[in-house]
Amino acid sequence: MAETQQEISSVLTETRVFPPPQEFSQRAHLKSMEDYQRLWDEAARNPDKYWGERAREELYWKEPFQTVLDWKPPHARWFVEGRTNLAYNCLDRHLATRRDKPAILFEGEPGDRRTLTYGQLAVEVNRLANGLKSLGVKKGDRVGIYLPMVPEAAVAMLACARIGAVHSVVFGGFSTEALQERMKDAGAKVVLTADGGWRKGAVVPLLKNVEAALKNMPSVEKVVVARRTGDALALTDSRMVAWDVLVNGQSDTCEPEWVESEHPLFILYTSGSTGKPKGVLHTTAGYAVVASLTTRWVFDLREDDVYWCTADVGWVTGHSYVVYGPLMNGATTVIYEGAPTHPGPDRFWDIIERYKATILYTAPTAIRAFMRLGDEYPRKKNLSSLRLLGSVGEPINPEAWMWYRDVIGQGRCPVVDTWWQTETGGIMISPLPGATPTKPGSATLPLPGIHAEILDRAGNPVPKGQGGLLFVTRPWPSMLRTVYGDPDRYVRTYFSELPGKYFTGDGARTDMDGYFWLMGRVDDVVNVAGHRLGTAEVESALVAHKLVSEAAVVGRPDDLKGTALVAFVTLKQGNAPSPELKKELAQHVSKEIGAIARPDEIRFAEALPKTRSGKIMRRLLRDVAAGKQASGDTTTLEDLNVLAALQQNDE
Ligand code: ATP
Ligand code: MG
Repeated sequence: MAETQQEISSVLTETRVFPPPQEFSQRAHLKSMEDYQRLWDEAARNPDKYWGERAREELYWKEPFQTVLDWKPPHARWFVEGRTNLAYNCLDRHLATRRDKPAILFEGEPGDRRTLTYGQLAVEVNRLANGLKSLGVKKGDRVGIYLPMVPEAAVAMLACARIGAVHSVVFGGFSTEALQERMKDAGAKVVLTADGGWRKGAVVPLLKNVEAALKNMPSVEKVVVARRTGDALALTDSRMVAWDVLVNGQSDTCEPEWVESEHPLFILYTSGSTGKPKGVLHTTAGYAVVASLTTRWVFDLREDDVYWCTADVGWVTGHSYVVYGPLMNGATTVIYEGAPTHPGPDRFWDIIERYKATILYTAPTAIRAFMRLGDEYPRKKNLSSLRLLGSVGEPINPEAWMWYRDVIGQGRCPVVDTWWQTETGGIMISPLPGATPTKPGSATLPLPGIHAEILDRAGNPVPKGQGGLLFVTRPWPSMLRTVYGDPDRYVRTYFSELPGKYFTGDGARTDMDGYFWLMGRVDDVVNVAGHRLGTAEVESALVAHKLVSEAAVVGRPDDLKGTALVAFVTLKQGNAPSPELKKELAQHVSKEIGAIARPDEIRFAEALPKTRSGKIMRRLLRDVAAGKQASGDTTTLEDLNVLAALQQNDE
């Protein structure tokens, strides 16, 4: 039946539930499910009132708004008449009470350290803002940011926001081509970069990449270069200017550009797990309200927290939860430049111990990598400062969730699995740690004001327990406004599945408690004998095996079955692949979730192909499984060798 074909079969069973620890709830911003429900009901009954109040609470408004929402599907304008400035909200607002509080605790990969207080950060931002103005950057101009994870990255973003320039951060690990493509698409006038950045003990040649890209970025008039490597600066092009020379002598104050709520704040190209990167455009006020609110609620932020989100500013997580969210809340945010396992497997735990980090927000790929390395590294460090753990980026396999909770959180810290996207600007589905009982592998419930629903392609609600397509059925303040330079793609990608309803591209189901379980991207769903299986659940069963570190499951066309399931598996350190282990793993999956999900083929791999943000790229594995040359865009792939190795294995 067409109807059942549209459902995604769910095979995972998970019954563990962890209520919030009492001491945590007592001190939390939201203390109970009653708190959550009350806010949820308020927001659903009167969204304009709810979001209007939130917007007035979260932001300083130079000019108030009258209209909360102007919704002409699929186009939304929020807080229409208001004017504000995001740099003002992140900095000036705090100077009276937090001038000497650390805003940024920075640690470079080589071990160098810097603290920037709110007072110092404001000065850096204002000087650069004035410097950019002196280069002719005006409100609405696009500025590219191609920097390592150093404080300058945050300074650059805030300086743009201060003068109403639109920033477009390109991850420092991206190549010349990727940079070029994005800067051309954005029409950037200025690019901010550094002579290099440290990664795994070596220098990433950022300036060299920019130099090569300059040949093909006609819009770029100036390149501002920060010093990072300690080498003499080689400014090889008349368009290049040293950062310190530019800001030297600039005034410490810079009047903020009071922009209208819908003024564009940034363009961010998505990581491209599924194809050509899209320039997701976010505007100022709506984005800011959600970034600020969710940082405080989801991470239960308190004045004395030392908050560490390990994401790079090249991703949306770095935008919302390294820079804007924490700084709007006056928090102390940790920035670490380098690789998680450099110089040793305990670098993360070392940082947590040294800075006494209280909140850690990282990705399942990192968690699985640490699991693979073994428990002894975190166990040797003092992680007792931690009080909350977060996860984002991919579905977190229940076994990885449990490890995170038990080994890193020592059973004490609530785990928040946060579902959201570049396009949503901020967290959408997540536990509130003082209120929501958590279940390993579930992002739990939508935040108040967020209408996440699981529907079939005809728009009918899918019954609890069955998989379907995840939609957001009402607008929210931090939704993307368009795909930069391609308004049709905005409509086509997000609003053509069901008119007026935002399609996330993800498959999900709800359980009997209404909790959301993300099942993977709809493009990755595998059809086995009439059952559509989400990849995440089959992978989670594999990861639950004690020898397995990571798994990716894809479909391969099969004459007999239509589709055969192929699982790519990496093992924990010290374990060797064998035909017996293949059999054992296939049996393990059958036993855990049923014969339907039993892989037809298991392939051991040293590593899985991932985006530079650490997500498994299943579309490439589909080609490998089918014995084809991997096709499509591979510029966002972290390591081409991984793909080559897999293809070779095949022969
Ligand atoms: P592209 O859209 O270019 O393919 P991308 O989707 O990987 O790239 P992001 O916006 O960074 O880029 O990622 C959002 C996606 O990541 C979600 O749609 C979802 O598939 C996945 N994701 C993020 N957080 C979670 C989570 N907590 N649980 C499950 N999946 C998640
Ligand atoms: Mg996406």
